[in-house]
This record gives sequence, C-alpha cells and structure tokens, in this order.
Amino acid sequence: MSSIARDIFFAFALCLFIGGCKDATPKCTAQNFPRISTPADLWKEFSGEKAFEHVRAQVALGPRPSGSATIEKARTHITDTLKASGWQVERQEFEDTPVPGKGALRFVNLIARFSATAVQPVSANTQRAIVCSHYDTKRMTGINFVGANDGASSTGALLELARVLATTPQFAEYFELVFFDGEEAVDKFSEPLDGPDGLVGSRHYARALRESGRSKQFQLAVLWDMIGDKDLTVTLPNDTPPQLSSALFAAGEKLGTRKHLGAYSDPILDDHVPLQIIARIPAMDIIDFDYEPWHTSGDTLDKLSPDSLRIIGQLTLSMLTQELGK
Ligand SMILES: [Zn+2]
Repeated sequence: MSSIARDIFFAFALCLFIGGCKDATPKCTAQNFPRISTPADLWKEFSGEKAFEHVRAQVALGPRPSGSATIEKARTHITDTLKASGWQVERQEFEDTPVPGKGALRFVNLIARFSATAVQPVSANTQRAIVCSHYDTKRMTGINFVGANDGASSTGALLELARVLATTPQFAEYFELVFFDGEEAVDKFSEPLDGPDGLVGSRHYARALRESGRSKQFQLAVLWDMIGDKDLTVTLPNDTPPQLSSALFAAGEKLGTRKHLGAYSDPILDDHVPLQIIARIPAMDIIDFDYEPWHTSGDTLDKLSPDSLRIIGQLTLSMLTQELGK
C-alpha cells in the first residue's frame, strides 16, 4: 500500500465515521464489574507457531469471500478447532444485501463460549470480554487474494487464544470469541450504523447484543485485524478508549514489546466500530495498518511471522488478565 493510498483510505474512513456517528458518540463509561481472580502468567502459553499453523490452514483454502463455497470450509476449520479444545460454537446465520440490486448473500458469524462444567448449552451470561476477528477475505475480481494478513492472521491467532484459554476453564467462561463474516465490503464501505456494505457481520452481532440486553454484561472488547506482518507496527486508531490503550501500552512495557505499539492520528473503520456505537461496549482495534501488500495478491504467508502473532497474542492476553482482574 502506498502512503497516498493509505491516506486516501483513512480520509475516506474518517468521512464515513464522522458522517455516521455524529449523533452517536460512543459512551465508554466504566461500569462496576466485580473483581475476578485471573491467571496472571497465562500469556506465556500463547504460541506463535501454533497460531501460524491455523493461519496456514486458512490460507491454503484459497480466497474466502462471504457467500462462497470456500468460506464454508474456513468455518469448518474454525469450528472443528474450537470444539477440539472444548468450546461450544453458535452459528449466527443471516442473509443481507450489501449492494442493493446485486442480490442477498448468506453470512455466518461464529460465536464461541466455554463452560467450565461442560454444561450444554453453555450459559450466555458468564462472558465479560469479547475477542474477535473477521475471517472472510475481500472478493477481488481477477486476483487470487488469499488474505494471509487480512483475514487469516487474526483468525489463526484467535484459534490459538481459544486453546490457551481452555487450559483455565474458570477463566475461559469470561470470554466470548467471535469470528465475523462480512467485514470486507463487496463494493465499498458504507456508514457503520446501517450499512449496508462492509462490517455486515459485526453490525448484525452488535445489534443482537443490544436487542438482547447482553451488551451490558461486557466490560470490554478487543478486535484483532492484520496482526501477522513480519514488520509489526500496531497503529491504534484514535477512537481507542484511553483506558484500553493505556492497558495495552502497560502490557507492552511489562513484556518488553512496547516498541511494536504506536498510535494513529485518525479513526479506522473496522469491526470494533459497531461494537462501540451500536452495542456501546468499550472496544479497541489492535491493527497493523502499515502493510504494503494490503488488498493485493501479495498478501501471502511469506510476509508473515509467527513471532508477530506471538507478540500480539501474549500482549493481549496479559492486558486482559490485568483488566479483568481489576
Ligand atoms: Zn481487508
């Protein structure tokens, strides 16, 4: 991505954000959540190599755009992996029409929850933190776009996070892991409250949270997107709730990886935005948008590093144990 292209994108995203949100400023007011005991050293268990194997498996499927036959194979890999470590998986399935006149597409968000006592179905009342990623890849005509960083990196890391959390079942009950479909725009992004194009899965999920009243049970949400670049430079958007950016920077100091964390001067339109403005949950986007092959055929496995996945996985887990234990 050239810096010009990036600036155009950010300007565009900023326009959409301001246009769509002027009457809906996120209210990220702190609520009182009871202190829980957290496994402070669990972050050490997150393996970049194991995460990378899941990234490899997603990429090997080829392009995985929403509504395609291949994305169902991606769902099978995600679901089977989650179930293998004891997570129960809800398929949140719906139809939507991202581009009027072009017909409806079927979307499926995958939502994983854990029961320490293996109760079926798992309770939807224990979760306090959302960690999420999109798993669809952008539909690009004439280009074999496999989305190694944009789609697969965060998905693979989230599967590794599920494995690690499952080793501490009492703690795992506090998490809702969400794999969003339809993050990528079919045509171009529209405004985040009503769409219709782009962020389709996260908007649907956020509306369901709000309508069910479940949004109130969540203390925070963390979105991962494009976290596998060998040259890891997190560009935290400026809509990041200050408490969460401070918590991430503190985790970076503690783990010695602070140098990978930076702040961006603008918002970024991504799946955390519906969580903020529709579900009203303090939500951050851990994203490295400084990535040259973004939305090109060059977004391939060789640009990624297991070590970058490890750094983000460990940082996030350390931050979450700290925040939930407050
Ligand atoms: Zn993308």
